[in-house]
Amino acid sequence: MKHTTVIGAGFGGLALAIRLQTAGVPTRLLEQRDKPGGRAYVYQDQGFTFDAGPTVITAPTAIEELFTLAGKSMRDYVELLPVTPFYRLCWESGQIFDYDNDQGRLEAEIRKFNPRDVAGYQRFLDYSRAVFAEGYLKLGTVPFLSFRDMLRAAPQLARLQAWRSVYNKVASFIEDEKLRQAFSFHSLLIGGNPFATSSIYTLIHALERESGVWFPRGGTGVLVQGMLKLFQDLGGTLELNARVSHIEAKGEAISAVHLQDGRVFETRAVASNADVVHTYGDLLTQHPAAAAQASKLKGKRMSNSLFVLYFGLNHHHDQLAHHTVCFGPRYRELIDEIFNHDVLAEDFSLYLHAPCVTDPSLAPPDCSSYYVLAPVPHLGTADLDWNIEGPRLRDRIFAYLEQHYMPGLRSQLVTHRMFTPFDFRDELNAYQGSAFSVEPILRQSAWFRPHNRDSQIRNLYLVGAGTHPGAGIPGVIGSAKATASLMLEDLHE
Ligand SMILES: Cc1cc2nc3c(=O)[nH]c(=O)nc-3n(C[C@H](O)[C@H](O)[C@H](O)COP(=O)(O)OP(=O)(O)OC[C@H]3O[C@@H](n4cnc5c(N)ncnc54)[C@H](O)[C@@H]3O)c2cc1C
Repeated sequence: MKHTTVIGAGFGGLALAIRLQTAGVPTRLLEQRDKPGGRAYVYQDQGFTFDAGPTVITAPTAIEELFTLAGKSMRDYVELLPVTPFYRLCWESGQIFDYDNDQGRLEAEIRKFNPRDVAGYQRFLDYSRAVFAEGYLKLGTVPFLSFRDMLRAAPQLARLQAWRSVYNKVASFIEDEKLRQAFSFHSLLIGGNPFATSSIYTLIHALERESGVWFPRGGTGVLVQGMLKLFQDLGGTLELNARVSHIEAKGEAISAVHLQDGRVFETRAVASNADVVHTYGDLLTQHPAAAAQASKLKGKRMSNSLFVLYFGLNHHHDQLAHHTVCFGPRYRELIDEIFNHDVLAEDFSLYLHAPCVTDPSLAPPDCSSYYVLAPVPHLGTADLDWNIEGPRLRDRIFAYLEQHYMPGLRSQLVTHRMFTPFDFRDELNAYQGSAFSVEPILRQSAWFRPHNRDSQIRNLYLVGAGTHPGAGIPGVIGSAKATASLMLEDLHE
């Protein structure tokens, strides 16, 4: 039987390939890079392991479901370690907030900032749980193919005031500005501006409270390898260094996938986990409907990009937590510049990843590995030359971390590497170098997002951050469930 093809071995592509293969659909996974994972790629350098992207693992049951479906036990493939506190939030004033799952400890942290906000937080948690039940549990894994689907969801979205922004909703419960930051920054983890993204994304808070924050032993790369092994144990075929150059269509349907190295694979259906603009604009150039779709997609707002700096030290910074958010001097204004202005700000807010806190095996003895990221504008917002800006920003960030968080950092440096918006564009084919694809604002969510199944090309599907429900590991694994349900219905017809 002809294979079905999944283009791209990101979390979404892997999860979809597992679901198809589990259902008995012979599946070929094509990945352009030398390793799977996509944004969850892994760098290994002088004994240091650097997870390139996702490090905050939430919704473990969504991941476990893939193994259970296949009749396997996730524990045989990957071990998830709990992370405590979930995050440490720090401000330049020296104030620290340990964001924890223990209600008593969390309330004590809130009280340090503003005792009156303890009650407000409880109301926020109730709201976040209600959104989680509607937005994640009910709508996060079902496709939105028609406007009717959207209308059906509309009353719930209206009741939850989904038109309000994350920050605006948080501010309706919480008075203290720093606490407002502490409970609104989460949407940035999936490319959402807390001042513009729908308050639906406050569900991330309930999701974390519900099922915790985890880290795979050995790093996120071990989770990727575990999912890949599961796919291969099920009989699935993976091709690495397999860059798709174009998708061949005959009439209204796709017939084959062509690789840059000249190989051609006939296919029953294609699901693309690659960037949505790249899929329609570069891979489907032969199909007339694709050009129109590509230009429509280019009109959408893309999420911000990121500047990521991976570094290994011959020292342990025991004072750090596993996940630290380092808030800079500005919040609203900085985020506005990142999403809307043609500049690289002088200040920054950072996320610092210190995985050796949970798992020292990620660095040689007496050493530790880190990454730090700064949200930055994508290339369509600020057309910067990252060959020049990258090294400058690296130097500024190292100096800042050394001054505020990691004394002696530069003298302890063994190795480092950067990943800039140019790399998102060139290594991942990400339109405008966006780190999270289509921006998750209400008018680009659910039915308004690129659909899990194309409406004109019969056997073309999308999976991953650019389709419903959106970016983040829970999001793209949810998209795989939505896409698989459509594909299995169609393929088994
Ligand atoms: C630095 C960073 C940190 C993050 N942190 C978190 C976090 O802590 N928690 C969380 O939940 N989420 C996090 N995210 C978001 C999350 O990583 C992504 O939303 C998610 O991994 C995207 O998965 P995806 O399935 O859309 O595919 P991607 O990871 O985008 O993979 C797509 C794949 O398609 C391949 N491809 C593209 N074009 C072609 C082609 N022509 N031929 C063949 N293959 C092709 C690419 O090489 C890539 O491997 C983070 C993202 C980044 C960038």
